[in-house]
Amino acid sequence: RRAAFQAQRGAAPVTRDGTRIALMVNAGLRDDVSALDVTGADGIGLFRTEFQFLVSATLPQRERQQRLYREVLDAAGDRPVIFRTVDIGGDKALPYMRDEQMEDENPAMGWRAIRLALERDGLMKAQARALLGAAAGRTLSVMFPMISEPWEFDQAKALFEAQRAWIEARGKPLPREVRYGTMLEVPALAECLDTLLPRVDFLSIGTNDLTQFLFAADRANPKLAERYDWLSPAILRFIRRVVVACDAADVPVAVCGEMGGRTIEAMALLAIGIERLSITPAAVGPVKAMVRSLDLGAARAMMGPLLDAPPGAMRQALTAWAQDNGV
Ligand code: PEP
Ligand code: MG
Repeated sequence: RRAAFQAQRGAAPVTRDGTRIALMVNAGLRDDVSALDVTGADGIGLFRTEFQFLVSATLPQRERQQRLYREVLDAAGDRPVIFRTVDIGGDKALPYMRDEQMEDENPAMGWRAIRLALERDGLMKAQARALLGAAAGRTLSVMFPMISEPWEFDQAKALFEAQRAWIEARGKPLPREVRYGTMLEVPALAECLDTLLPRVDFLSIGTNDLTQFLFAADRANPKLAERYDWLSPAILRFIRRVVVACDAADVPVAVCGEMGGRTIEAMALLAIGIERLSITPAAVGPVKAMVRSLDLGAARAMMGPLLDAPPGAMRQALTAWAQDNGV
C-alpha cells in the first residue's frame, strides 16, 4: 500500500468525475516543510506558528520568528502557505507564561489564542512584523485562531494593517499582497457568516475544536470519545451550512482539523461540498487514493438522505458505500 501511495505522489487529486481537490498539509516546524515534497501536497493549509513558541525555553524574539517564516516560504516556493497566528493557552501552555494561564479553570474555553493575542497585543505586533517582513515581495496569507465574532477578526486585521503601515513608513519592503482569513472553530462564528464573509479572503474549518464545542465534549478526554464523532449528522450538517454560505459568497473554504485526514471522514466532507483539505502529511497518500477512486456525484447523492435521516449508523453506512463503490 505504501508503494502504491508513493507511485501516485505525482498524480493530481482529481475525483473520477473530474473535480480537482486541493490537498494541503498541516505543519508547525521548519522540518515539517519537507512533507510538501515527500507527499506532493498543494501547499501548507495550516502552519501552526505556536509550535516555535512551545519548543522554546524563552519567548522567541521577532528576528527568530522572521527567520523561521522566511525559511518556510523559501522551502514552499510557489506553493501557498497559510500562517496561523499563535494559538497558545488552552492545551498549549507556554512554560514562560504559565502563571497567567493557570488561572483558567476550563482552558479550552479560556483565555487563549486570539483572545490572549488581542489583549497582550505586543506578542501579535511582533509576530505581524515578523510575518510581513518574511513575506517581503510575496503573498502573505494570515489566519486567526478562535475567532468567535467578526469584530475580533476586524481588530486582528487592523493590528496587522497598522504594522504594515509602520513598515511602509520606514521604506522597508512589504509583501506583494496580504490575504486575511480566519479559522471557524467556535460555533458562534457560523451564526455571523453574513457579516463575516464579505470581510475575509478565506475560511478554514478547525474540526478539532469545532467538534468539542459543538458537542460540549472535551477533545482530549478518552471517556468522551464516542461523543466526539465526526461522522454524525450534527457536525456534517453544520459544516454543510458553512460551505453553502461560503460558496454563495465566493469565499474559499477548507477543513484543517484531523477529521480531514481520515479516509471515510474526508469522503464525507467532499460529499457535503468541501473541496479543500489541509491534513497531517501521513494522510495525504490514503486521502489522495480515496479522492482518485471517488465518484463525487454519486457520493453527494448518497450523502443527502443520510444527513436528513435521524442520527444513526452513519459510519457503517458510509463504510459500506465506500466498499461497494470501490473507494
Ligand atoms: C482545530 O481546532 O481543528 C485546529 C486545526 O486547530 P488546533 O488543532 O491547532 O486547535
Ligand atoms: Mg483549534
